[in-house]
Amino acid sequence: MIDLNTVTYAYPSGDEVLSDISLVLPKGGLLGLAGANGSGKSTLLALMAGLFAPTRGSLEVAGRVSPGNEGSIRSVCRLVMQDADLQILGATVEEDLLLGRKRSGEVVEEARAMAERLNLLKYWDHPVQTLSWGTKRKLCLAAALLDKPRVLLLDEPFSGLDYPGMKEMRALIRDNRAAGLTQVVASHDLESLIDLVDGLAVLDNGVLALNGPAETVLDRVAEHGVRAPGSWTACRTVVPWDGEPA
Ligand code: ADP
Repeated sequence: MIDLNTVTYAYPSGDEVLSDISLVLPKGGLLGLAGANGSGKSTLLALMAGLFAPTRGSLEVAGRVSPGNEGSIRSVCRLVMQDADLQILGATVEEDLLLGRKRSGEVVEEARAMAERLNLLKYWDHPVQTLSWGTKRKLCLAAALLDKPRVLLLDEPFSGLDYPGMKEMRALIRDNRAAGLTQVVASHDLESLIDLVDGLAVLDNGVLALNGPAETVLDRVAEHGVRAPGSWTACRTVVPWDGEPA
C-alpha cells in the first residue's frame, strides 16, 4: 500500500532532511515511525500524505506515484498533524465534522456516531476554542476517519492525552487495524506504540537507521536517540522522612 523507493527530501530553504529512505508497508499494516525530535518523522509523513513530492527517489501510495500524483494521494490519505489548531476549520465540533460534506440526515448521523466513538458527542455544539488540546486532536482524527481514507497517518497521536485519552487512542488505532486500514503512527513514545505496531522504522537525522519487526529492532533504538520501553531509570534524590505528617 505504501512503497518508498530511495526517497530524499530537502526543504526549498535548506539542507537535505531525508536521505534515501526505502521501505514498504503492506495493505492493512501498521508501521510505527520513531526517532528523536528533528529526525524527519513529520516530513516523511507529509511526503506519504502527498503534501509535497520527494526531491529525489519516488513513493507510491495506494497505487499513486509521487512525484506527479500528489493530489491523487491526498484524496486517499489523511494526515492528522501534531498541531490540531492547523487542521480544525469549523467553529464548533458539529461544524468541523460536517464541513465540506453535503448535509443530510444520514451524514449528520454518521458524524454524530463518529463523535460518539471518540467520546466527543458531549462537546457537539461547543466552540472549538473551549476544547482541551487532547480533545482537539481527537476532533481532527474524527474528521479524518469520516473521510474514509485508505491510509491514515498519525503524527504524535499520544501527545497531550491523559491516561484515559491514551487508552482511547490506542483502542481506536487497534480498531482501525482490525478494520483493515493501513496506518503509520509517528511517535517518540515507544511505550505507547510498541505493542500496537507490526513493524518499527527508526529515523536518525534523516536516515532510516532501523526497520523491521519491533522485537528485532527494540534493543538498538537507544543508539538512535529513542528511549526503549521500560528503560527509564529514576534519578530522583530520596529525601529521608523523619517528620510527622502535616
Ligand atoms: P520530526 O518530526 O522527527 O521532529 P521534522 O520532519 O519536523 O522532524 O524535521 C526534520 C528536519 O527538517 C529538522 O531539521 C527541521 O528543522 C527541518 N524542517 C522541518 N520543517 C521545515 C520547513 N518547513 N522548512 C525548513 N526546514 C524544515
